[in-house]
Amino acid sequence: MAANTDRAAEETASPPAEEASAVETARTQLNRAAERLDVDPNVVERLRHPHAVHEVRMPVERDDGTLEVFVGYRAQHDSVRGPYKGGIRFHPGVTRDECVGLSMWMTWKCAVMDLPFGGAKGGVVVNPKDLSEGETERLTRRFAQELRDVVGPHTDIPAPDMGTDAQTMSWFMDAYSMQEGETVPGVVTGKPPVVGGSHGRDGAPGRSVAIVAREAAAHHGIDLSGATVAVQGFGSVGANAARLLDDWGATVVAVSDVNGAVYDPDGLDTHAVPTHEEEPEAVMTHEAPETLSNEAVLELDVDILVPAAVGNVLTADNADRVRADVVVEGANGPTTAAADEMLDDRGVPVIPDILANAGGVTVSYFEWLQDINRRAWPLERVHAELEEEMLAAWDAVRAEFDDGARTWRDAAYAVALRRVAAAHDARGVWP
Ligand code: GLU
Repeated sequence: MAANTDRAAEETASPPAEEASAVETARTQLNRAAERLDVDPNVVERLRHPHAVHEVRMPVERDDGTLEVFVGYRAQHDSVRGPYKGGIRFHPGVTRDECVGLSMWMTWKCAVMDLPFGGAKGGVVVNPKDLSEGETERLTRRFAQELRDVVGPHTDIPAPDMGTDAQTMSWFMDAYSMQEGETVPGVVTGKPPVVGGSHGRDGAPGRSVAIVAREAAAHHGIDLSGATVAVQGFGSVGANAARLLDDWGATVVAVSDVNGAVYDPDGLDTHAVPTHEEEPEAVMTHEAPETLSNEAVLELDVDILVPAAVGNVLTADNADRVRADVVVEGANGPTTAAADEMLDDRGVPVIPDILANAGGVTVSYFEWLQDINRRAWPLERVHAELEEEMLAAWDAVRAEFDDGARTWRDAAYAVALRRVAAAHDARGVWP
């Protein structure tokens, strides 16, 4: 466990601007937002750093009896508005810096949505495909145990992210609860409904991407019915967004997974393409007139492009080849700071992750409320309240955009940073 106070080490550890780590991109975005707004520089200085980054080493017994030590992190950025909140990812590319950057985005995401949460993110350096179910369970339980002192329903509430799902959250909740001596469903969100999870949580990030894409299309004069859409990534975010946009009349021409993309200029039947949950990495098994590489999806001439796979896919190398009229970020951090500027120069609006995929954490908030009250909401209520929250956040961000924010990201940061800074201002520094 290490409190993160060494700024010089943090900054020298970061790679140079373009091959940006998440933390570098997040800091560049924060500086840019702070420059535009009249925010107390002391508060901005505080927000450049996570409050703490916990680092743990976890011995886990493999099925063959050997022992492997895994590294895990939990970055807690800011809790001025409420408990830390954010996902846990199992991915070979997880780093300390990535967790810090992603934890900063969670702070802004929760603030844009006006949720009473701060920002956190955790991860384990592991390829989940290399683990059996039993090994994944042992690793998850050990991670929960290692984080036990720093998470809790009123301190820090993890959730699923890349490589983790409702089952992972269920094991995490069980391990934590066993040690507490009581069932504590509110310690994590994204659980299966049978143990206190919310209906509609799995589909929520994709649903918010679709809602925000619909609003952004209307704002930019694109008629959704018949609008062409390309989606990179067909997991929980991409697949749910693609299917909803398809249901709402859009023509989804391409969807992809790590193996490549299927493309049909007349529109795919998105419900017939297997999602990652239905059958992992099977998008290419769907019959389509054409196949493309995963990267080529980003360069299609479509009305709406949704990068919904991993971070850093729109970079200085390909931003000039993006032909979409609007980009809606489904993944966290798909656009590097350099690509953001290039797209802005070319007049391509980018609707940022901290707004577009915020449906996930918003339904996490609904789940947390349901857990505290021990009362489940029906799916219809989740959908109705999510729609309402997304439209309220969209309106707040659009007001900043109409008021002269240069980009949609600037507008979303303005909403978030004003709220977080006002809370810091009101609470002050202790001692
Ligand atoms: N991992 C999701 C995200 O990046 C959800 C976080 C949460 O529900 O706490 O927004």
